[in-house]
Amino acid sequence: MKGSILDGEVTVFDIVQYYYCPRKVYFLRVMGVPASIRRKMEYGEEVHEKEKRRMLERKSIYGFPIEEVEEVIQDLQLEAREIGLRGKLDVALRLKNGELIPVDTKYTDEVLIQRQYLKQLYAYALLLEQRYGRKVTRGVIYFSKQMETRVLEVSYEDKQGVLRDIERIRSMIAREATPPAVSHEKCGYCEVKKYCIG
Ligand code: SF4
Repeated sequence: MKGSILDGEVTVFDIVQYYYCPRKVYFLRVMGVPASIRRKMEYGEEVHEKEKRRMLERKSIYGFPIEEVEEVIQDLQLEAREIGLRGKLDVALRLKNGELIPVDTKYTDEVLIQRQYLKQLYAYALLLEQRYGRKVTRGVIYFSKQMETRVLEVSYEDKQGVLRDIERIRSMIAREATPPAVSHEKCGYCEVKKYCIG
């Protein structure tokens, strides 16, 4: 992500990590442990780039008929200082009726919508609303490995939940409090495991 994180600012990445394990955010944001990019994620990025090109050659774009899509907006750096949130969104669709739809691509072994994926989508919806001044009520999760698209509703409550998440994370960072550890199953895949006594 470009630019430095302002004091009290929370990123979409923080929210995703928080829903994986709050303690992980403590290590990344309070202790300053660098976030490493795992090979699987890097590979996922490559696939994502190819997929974006292929999508544009098809008759539909992320599940929407091509004739309904006005614009595919790519690589959006989004920041909403009033709510203290920022994030980078790879793709957003602007439909001909003006609707804006955040698209998040996942490269995973199974098509399973995890809670942190939903939270990420809601956070992007909120950031898009702030940028364009227009309500965002749907989002897409695209599973690139399986080439499956899920169009999901985003409610007012979902976006309010993101505001509460931002406050929780901000408060945790300010207090420098260590959150409790999560299940050992998650620890096995955790990039900050070596710093965490669990
Ligand atoms: S090792 Fe486990 S408890 Fe520690 S931050 Fe990672 S997921 Fe959380």
